[in-house]
This record gives sequence, structure tokens and C-alpha cells, in this order.
Amino acid sequence: MEISKEVCTGCGVCLPYCVVGAIAMDDGAASIDLDGCVECGSCIRNAPCPTQAFLQPRLQWPRAVRQWFSDNLVPMPDHATMGAGRGVIEVKTNDRTNYYKPGEVGFFIEMGRPGVSSSLRDVEEMVRAFAQRGYQLVDYNSLAPLVADWKTGKLKSEVLEERVLSATLEFRATLADVPEMIAVLREVERQVDTVFSVGVMCCADPPYTIPIMPILRDLGVPVRPNAKINVGLGKPLAKG
Ligand code: SF4
Ligand code: SF4
Repeated sequence: MEISKEVCTGCGVCLPYCVVGAIAMDDGAASIDLDGCVECGSCIRNAPCPTQAFLQPRLQWPRAVRQWFSDNLVPMPDHATMGAGRGVIEVKTNDRTNYYKPGEVGFFIEMGRPGVSSSLRDVEEMVRAFAQRGYQLVDYNSLAPLVADWKTGKLKSEVLEERVLSATLEFRATLADVPEMIAVLREVERQVDTVFSVGVMCCADPPYTIPIMPILRDLGVPVRPNAKINVGLGKPLAKG
């Protein structure tokens, strides 16, 4: 994103509209820190700039990666993701698709948030740590096109200096894998300069127990159970 210095009057109205605080006043005009800007488009769409000084240039690789992950109006080109936008499986339709079966888990890590964002170097740190233990991203994940080496989890070197508002990693695993995966997170959290939230998705055991709960409780991980089901909108497509 750019601001035309010739057009900007320096009124300062736009400053609070940046989701990562990348707009600041510089010599009487607003200016964007291009390292911090994640190309989300919030400022140009929402800030009531009296002179329409914002300019969105056509972004080229690798900077365009920022926009794919941060602007939900700009889809990632040439990569089919599961569901819209974030490229992760939807919890609320698993009872219909049976994508994650009993005993399996979908393990999700969302790195970065509005106000914080994440570098792709930090994202790579996480992907590599899981790859070293044999956990690979699912192939429909939004990060898949950025992977240079699936075995090591290395991302393409040219994207590592890019920043995104957030990126969600998804791994397919089993209930038995969860203690090791939590151990990986505890190791990586000391090495990354961002925040992340974690979701573990599993089927409930009849009648109403959630098998991941005692596993996480024993690991000392506080949990907020969350069920999101579109009741009655479909029948299971597969059994078992
Ligand atoms: S595009 Fe997003 S991150 Fe960049 S300056 Fe505008 S609001 Fe901030
Ligand atoms: S709102 Fe527009 S004119 Fe005012 S400081 Fe921001 S870019 Fe400049």
C-alpha cells in the first residue's frame, strides 16, 4: 500500500485504521512502513481519507503473498483450498464429510493476529519443527504453495521476509500424537516473535465425551471446548 505525498494533507485521520500500526506521520504527511504493512487493504477501504491519497499498486511475487494471506477479498491464485479463505477444514461440517474420523485430530495453529501479524520466517520455524517429527501440512493448506521442501518444512527462501496478518497451519494426526505436538509447540513458542492460537478438532465419543479433553488436561493445557455444528443440514457421506 502507498500514500501519495503530493495528495496527503497530513490530517492524521487514517492512522488508527491500520490493523498493524504501520501508518505514521512523517514530515507533515502520512507514510506507510512497508516492512510492517501486510497489504490487507483495510486503510484504502475503510479510512475516510478526505483526499483519497491511498494507492494500491499491483503487487508482484513475493510481496503479493502478504495480500493473499491478509486481504480476504484477494484469493490465492492457482491453489484450491478446502473451504473459503483460510484454507482449513471446517469444524462445523465434519459430521457430514467425516473428514476427520474417530481417533484422528485436525491440529490447527493460527500464527499472527490483527495488531501483531507474523513473519513467514516465524511460520517456517513452526512448519520445520513439525516436519522434523514427521508431521506435514495438509496439501490444501494455504501455505502449501510456499513450501520448498516437504520433508524439511522449508519454505521458499524469497518469501521469508514477508509478513502476513495471520496464517493457519493444519496437520492431520491422531489422538496419540497430541502430546508430542504440544511439546513441539512449547519448544517453538520460545523461538518465534508472534502470537499463535491452537485448535484441536476431533469427533465426540458417544454419548457426549470429548476424547481430546483428558489428554490436554493431563498436559496442563487449558481448553475452551467449542462445538460448531450445522445440525440437520446434511447426512454423513461416509461411515466409520
Ligand atoms: S494495507 Fe493494511 S497493513 Fe498496510 S497500511 Fe493499510 S491497513 Fe496497514
Ligand atoms: S487520511 Fe488521507 S490526507 Fe489524512 S493523513 Fe491519512 S492519507 Fe493523509
